[in-house]
Amino acid sequence: MVKFTVNEELCKGCGLCVRACPKQILRLSKTKFNAKGYHPSEITDVEACIACGSCFRTCPDSVIRIEKE
Ligand code: SF4
Ligand code: SF4
Repeated sequence: MVKFTVNEELCKGCGLCVRACPKQILRLSKTKFNAKGYHPSEITDVEACIACGSCFRTCPDSVIRIEKE
């Protein structure tokens, strides 16, 4: 099981992680805004995550954390 977290306040909603995910399980939230007005990234199906790290490595601000439980 993978634990996927995004520091929502530091995410700038650039979408690079969304495009980098080979499983296509990331999206920019349609309902959440952070204090800067950005839609943070979120995972849609954590059970499908293969912990490849592509999103983590792609994020320019290093706001994604992936932990294997
Ligand atoms: S670790 Fe890989 S599969 Fe999991 S959300 Fe990130 S890019 Fe997608
Ligand atoms: S790449 Fe980083 S800053 Fe950009 S949307 Fe994803 S988590 Fe947010």
